[in-house]
Amino acid sequence: MPTIAVERSSQVRLTLLPPLALYVHIPWCVRKCPYCDFNSHERNEPLPEREYVAKLISDLEALLPSVWGRRLISVFIGGGTPSLFSPAAIDELLCAVRARVVLEPGAEITLEANPGTVEAARFRGFRDAGVNRISLGVQSFDDAMLTALGRIHSAAEARRGVDAALASFDNVNIDLMYGLPGQTLDMARTDIGAALACGVPHISAYQLTIEPNTAFYRRPPPLPEHDTCADMQLAVEEALSSAGYQHYETSAFARPGRRCRHNLNYWQFGDYLGIGAGAHGKVSFPDRVTRQERIKQPRDYLAAANTIAKENAVPPAELPFEFMLNALRLVDGFALALFQERTGLPITVIARELQQAEQRGLIGRDVQNLRPTERGRLFLNELLGLFVTGGESAGLESGVRVAGPATRIL
Ligand code: SF4
Repeated sequence: MPTIAVERSSQVRLTLLPPLALYVHIPWCVRKCPYCDFNSHERNEPLPEREYVAKLISDLEALLPSVWGRRLISVFIGGGTPSLFSPAAIDELLCAVRARVVLEPGAEITLEANPGTVEAARFRGFRDAGVNRISLGVQSFDDAMLTALGRIHSAAEARRGVDAALASFDNVNIDLMYGLPGQTLDMARTDIGAALACGVPHISAYQLTIEPNTAFYRRPPPLPEHDTCADMQLAVEEALSSAGYQHYETSAFARPGRRCRHNLNYWQFGDYLGIGAGAHGKVSFPDRVTRQERIKQPRDYLAAANTIAKENAVPPAELPFEFMLNALRLVDGFALALFQERTGLPITVIARELQQAEQRGLIGRDVQNLRPTERGRLFLNELLGLFVTGGESAGLESGVRVAGPATRIL
């Protein structure tokens, strides 16, 4: 693998700390979906809500000395299926967060929900607790596709879920998948049409990929051909663009003013605290960038006195890849100055790799900005490969993989 030639003498020097977000992981679901490789566990007993919220709060308290004086720009409660928790539990959690860290005025607070686990009153409860954005795991509006994906909801329940979410929130995302078992191009077109008809301001559209450690990996379903999936991706992008959605990240589309601020912070290599089973965090200091990972199994996490499974300062040689892994997903790319601001390294450390990327037609740049070209977006893995270090990459944000359209942010 190519290695970024960051000299030993290159030191990380951050003159400005990045924006700070908070990710909260709630790891339970009604049933494990056969394609899912997230840290989610089938609920087979009453959820230990109180115990878990208390643990989340103690996780947060332990992190406070590393972020004194900093404000949160966003909170994202993901999973799993966080909507399985009661509004009272979410209220207790958010009250505890606010009492310990200052939230920016108008901070985005997202909760992930699944149709079939929420009804109107529950959404109102989440709103009253302070949640101001809902991300709904719809995946498809086709009953046959939902059955093939092992989802617990029907298309009618998906529609009811979206309507109920929109009755309480004006900021709603739906997740949609394509490239599904037995799906044709026409079926994918119908699905995106159904998603558009919902009138939500944000849609995340992913291609289904088969990941190791999933039921689909052990018994692969019949998937559409590669070319068909590429046509589906094109059809989805065209439909969303014609309907006025801005394509701002590999899989994310938003109406003006509705881009997800929490996920943008990941892609712009911002900082985030991660609390909950298996959650990842990234915190910068003037002389280093650190990562932290928590114990994955909910039972072990709840029982542990210290929930940290792994903690390290990111070696400077790995920072360029970590930055690029995130920032090159942005359709508009990034300001060149952001590289130094977020990694603490001069952009000259990747001069050779940038030149190669430009020669291959994968990026375009001027004196101020850099963005992936159309070809760079299509061959994102090839582009990212130029920035891979010789060592192990620890740069995968929670739920982010080095992949094209299939990548999903939790
Ligand atoms: S895909 Fe979503 S609902 Fe299904 S098991 Fe994974 S986290 Fe739970």
